[in-house]
Amino acid sequence: APDSGGSSDSCRVRVAVRLRPKNSEDLAHGSEFDSCVELQPESKRLKLKKNNWSCESYKFDEVFSENASQKRVYEVVAMPVVEASHAFLIPSVLEGYNGTVMAYGQTGTGKTYTVGQLGKNDPSERGIMLYLESVQDLLAPEKTNIPIVEDAKTGEVSLPGAAIVEIKDLEHVFHLLQIGEANRHAANTKMNTESSRSHAILIIHLQRSSRIKEENSSLSNDTHDIFPDDLPLVLKSKLLIVDLAGSERIDKSGSEGHMIEEAKFINLSLTSLGKCINALAENSPHIPTRDSKLTRVLRDSFGGTARTSLVVTIGPSSRHYSETSSTVMFGQRAM
Ligand code: ADP
Ligand code: MG
Repeated sequence: APDSGGSSDSCRVRVAVRLRPKNSEDLAHGSEFDSCVELQPESKRLKLKKNNWSCESYKFDEVFSENASQKRVYEVVAMPVVEASHAFLIPSVLEGYNGTVMAYGQTGTGKTYTVGQLGKNDPSERGIMLYLESVQDLLAPEKTNIPIVEDAKTGEVSLPGAAIVEIKDLEHVFHLLQIGEANRHAANTKMNTESSRSHAILIIHLQRSSRIKEENSSLSNDTHDIFPDDLPLVLKSKLLIVDLAGSERIDKSGSEGHMIEEAKFINLSLTSLGKCINALAENSPHIPTRDSKLTRVLRDSFGGTARTSLVVTIGPSSRHYSETSSTVMFGQRAM
């Protein structure tokens, strides 16, 4: 059975599995005891049962049971990316480095539940969505084909034309997230698709004055002239929170041209994301981010000096065994 040793904290990608509680549909299709998943939180292992004779065991950085709180998931998954701590070897977003927190899994397993709540703890600036390899601004939905530009010198990725909103307070963040969510919903209704067919990305830009600047500011009132914002006295970083499209195989979901196109692009972006994550896990010097818009947007925010956390979300029901298995394998290959 595949059973890798798991990654240490110095590894680029931290991978956790989160099991969602049974819902009424699961209970309607199987008994309350039906489950293809067994978690062993002490050893951070997950057992996946195909049937009574076949069972595989996987080790992750963490396995969250259906009882895990949002707070605990935040602490294990997002905190190492976001917050400065001596316990973590790689610098965090608050220390001026970029980071990414992603949720991957079949539709209905808790991706939005998991990363949709994370944004609430942090100032946000931008919500965007990728659909059919096109980038739409969720804060200004009339902008539907936003280019992805990479600075040749710094490698910094930007989305010219997309709205960037300066955050006033936490309430303002919730308000923007609500607008983004409503626009995501409206765009999907218009295109007659479901939100499970798109990736939603919240980009939080953080700019932080260094101590040197603060000390100098107290000496002089017009430090703006002496220390313009683009001097390295200011720490700049980005946090990307990524609610990925559903990982279920969608080539079987429809025969209309529209659906086939859609399936092709989602497969392309998730496959290409998988390749990048594998390359990161193998410490490869080359991360193949050029293949899809999703990975091009992520390019400067994972790998290199950036920290990345991936939560793979699964449901318990044995009727989704094969989707659950391929989701778990995706997570395992990232380690
Ligand atoms: P996805 O974004 O992967 O399609 P959602 O986040 O929308 O899935 O979750 C589907 C449903 O399951 C939602 O009603 C959500 O509230 C619920 N849910 C998901 N994960 C959990 C969890 N860990 N605990 C409680 N409810 C959950
Ligand atoms: Mg969702």
